[in-house]
Amino acid sequence: MLQVKNIVKYYGENKAVDNLSFEVKDGEIFGLLGENGAGKTTTFRIIMGLLDATDGTVLLNGRKIDYSLTDQIGFVTEERSLLTKMTVKEQLIFYGILKGMSEKKIENELKKWLKFFQIEDYENRKIKELSKGNQQKIQFISAVINHPKLLILDEPFTGLDPINVELMKKAIYKLQEEGCSIIFSSHQMEHIDAFCEKLIILVKGKAIVDGYVQDIKKEYKKKNILIRGEDIPVTEIEKIKGVISVTKQKDEYAVKVDEDSIAPKVFAKIKNKNITKYDVTEATLNEIFIAKVGEVHE
Ligand code: ATP
Repeated sequence: MLQVKNIVKYYGENKAVDNLSFEVKDGEIFGLLGENGAGKTTTFRIIMGLLDATDGTVLLNGRKIDYSLTDQIGFVTEERSLLTKMTVKEQLIFYGILKGMSEKKIENELKKWLKFFQIEDYENRKIKELSKGNQQKIQFISAVINHPKLLILDEPFTGLDPINVELMKKAIYKLQEEGCSIIFSSHQMEHIDAFCEKLIILVKGKAIVDGYVQDIKKEYKKKNILIRGEDIPVTEIEKIKGVISVTKQKDEYAVKVDEDSIAPKVFAKIKNKNITKYDVTEATLNEIFIAKVGEVHE
């Protein structure tokens, strides 16, 4: 389990992280979100022991993170940190040895992972000859080859096509099942929605939203109603008190409402029409992110 307790980081006068606390249990996937410059990378660097916090503590399984523990943290970022002149095999052996693994164990693991990612044929190819997506897979394998206790994923799907995104997701779930604590960061909210049970949204280093995704969505009163059908009386729906907007999305309308209680009023306007879809849905994480971050900047 990872415990981040009241961390503060100043760069000169600039407070990049402001009294941030959270926990990631074994086998939990935790989302750390925030706009550009919110303090995510700074937080990751502190957790990995690459940067000293001005204040606060970080514990991994109850121990302060120092060099003896950093081997147990895997990090995948969108910036490539591969040694591109090496072959895939040389690269993975290099990282495995740095993490204290025997060459035999590394070879077993690398064979397993290259097979999993369907790139067995690339074992003896130079990294620089690989496509961006395949380099991302190698970066991921380098981070997890020793089964880390904590895995930090910062935009891990960059450069991957939809089929490989699914493979990478499977790999992440595999590590979750092993009990690895996972921190996931992405600006693509649909990935956060699919993965994370808990999350924090940072603004200027401070957590402005913190909790279980389900609760955050429930507490956020605004809902979306999706309607498909003929002769939808858009102007009449727009006039209902509590309707925020009505927008056409392909062959359906999306009606944003202030709260659940507005939904029957919208339904009353269309019940005599030829309707093929009427669906009241929770706000998406994307909408919640934009609204909550926007409120702070107002
Ligand atoms: P992004 O989504 O763009 O990667 P981030 O959430 O990772 O952003 P950080 O890189 O942690 O944000 O930056 C947080 C704040 O700290 C910003 O105001 C940034 O300008 C500042 N900062 C980051 N690194 C340094 C540094 N080495 N020296 C001085 N200030 C820094």
